[in-house]
Amino acid sequence: MLPPLAARATAVGGSPIREILALTARPGVISFAGGLPAPELFDTEGLRAAYEAAFTSSPGRALQYSTTEGAPELREAVAARATARGLPTTPDDLLITTGSQQALALVTSALVDPGDTVLVENPTYLAALQTFGMAGARVVPVPCDDEGLLPDALQELVEREHAKLLYTIPTFQNPTGRTLTAARRAEVARIAARLGLWLVEDDPYGDLRFEGRDIPWLAAHPGAEDRTALLGSFSKILAPGLRLGWLRAPAALRRAAAVAKQAADLHTSTVDQLAAAHYLTTADLDAHISRVRTAYRTRRNALLAGLETALPPTSTWNHPEGGMFIWARLPEGHDATALLKTSITHDVAFVPGAPFHTGTPDPRTLRLSFTTHTPEEITTGLTRLATAAAAYSGVSA
Ligand code: PMP
Repeated sequence: MLPPLAARATAVGGSPIREILALTARPGVISFAGGLPAPELFDTEGLRAAYEAAFTSSPGRALQYSTTEGAPELREAVAARATARGLPTTPDDLLITTGSQQALALVTSALVDPGDTVLVENPTYLAALQTFGMAGARVVPVPCDDEGLLPDALQELVEREHAKLLYTIPTFQNPTGRTLTAARRAEVARIAARLGLWLVEDDPYGDLRFEGRDIPWLAAHPGAEDRTALLGSFSKILAPGLRLGWLRAPAALRRAAAVAKQAADLHTSTVDQLAAAHYLTTADLDAHISRVRTAYRTRRNALLAGLETALPPTSTWNHPEGGMFIWARLPEGHDATALLKTSITHDVAFVPGAPFHTGTPDPRTLRLSFTTHTPEEITTGLTRLATAAAAYSGVSA
C-alpha cells in the first residue's frame, strides 16, 4: 500500500490535444492540428554559431550555475525589444524563464490560492487551464466574440465572482487567432484598475503579424501598469526547443515569482541564455522574424483560399492578421470530433475546438494551424478535407 497521489495530480487530466496529435503523427497525414513552428524556418546556422560563441567566449560561465533572474545580457536584450515595441522596460523588470509556460506557472503559484477565481477567455489555451487546475483555482470563462473578450461581461464577472486574476492572450489567441482591439484593451485595463484585478497577458504570437498594425500590449494601457504580468517567449520567433521565455511584472510579483522559480528549477539553462543573448546581439532577429512572417502569410492565405470548398457549406471561419491559427465553425448539427475521425482516415487532421472550452463546449468549432506545411501541401490537405467532409455529411445525413 502506498499513500495516494496529491489531489491536484489526479484532478487535472492530460491534454486531449496531445492524444489527438499522437493519432495524427502518422507519416503521410497532412496535419493542421499541431501548434508547432515550421522547423525548416529555424535559423539553425545562426543558432549553432550563437552556441559556439557562448562556449568559446565564456565556457566556464556557460556551463556553470547562474542567477535565478537570468543572464544580464539576455535581460538587457529583451528589455530593449520590449521598449522598442512601446513598453518602457529595464532589465530589472524581467525574469528569464524556462519557456513562457514556466512564467505562467510561477505567476500562478505567486498569485493563486486554492479556491481563488481565475477568469479566462472562452475558449482558451489548454495548458493554461491545466496550470490553473493544478493550483486549485476556480476557472470561470468570460464570453468572447470575434474581437476577443467582452469587457461588459468581464466587469460583471469580476464583481459577481470576486475574481482575482484575468488570464488573456490578447494577440492572435490560441486557439482562435483572435485579437483584442485597442479599445477593448483600454477598457480591460480600466476595469482591472477600478475593481482590483491582476492581469496575466500571454503574448507568444504578437511578433507574428503579417498585416495590419501592431496594437500596444495590454500592459501599456493606463490602469494596467501596476497589475500586469506580461509573458513573452522565444518559442514562436526563434525555436521552442530552446525553452526560453520571460516575465515582465511589477516588483512584488516578480520577486515572488523568482522565489517560486528557485523552488522549481533554480534558474533557466545558462548556456541557452548566453547563446540567445549572442544571437540577439550579433544576428538580426527582426530579419529572421520577417522571413517567418512572409512564409506564414503565404501559408495562411493558402488555407483561407481553400476552406470554402473544404468545409461543409455555411461553415464560418475568421481571417487572423497573424499568429498560427484559424478558427472555424461547422454548420448546425455538425460535430468537429466526428469529422476529425473521418478526416484521419483520409490522411488529414485538425483539432476539434471542444477541449479548449471551459464550461459547455461548442462541438461545432475547430482549430486549423497553417504553419508546418507548404502552400502545395495545404491545398492537398484541403482537398482531402473536402472528401472527408462529404463522406462525413453522408454518414450523418
Ligand atoms: N501560451 C500560449 C498561448 C501558447 O500557445 C504556448 C505554446 N503553444 C505557450 C504559452 C507556451 O510557450 P513556451 O514554449 O514559451 O513555453
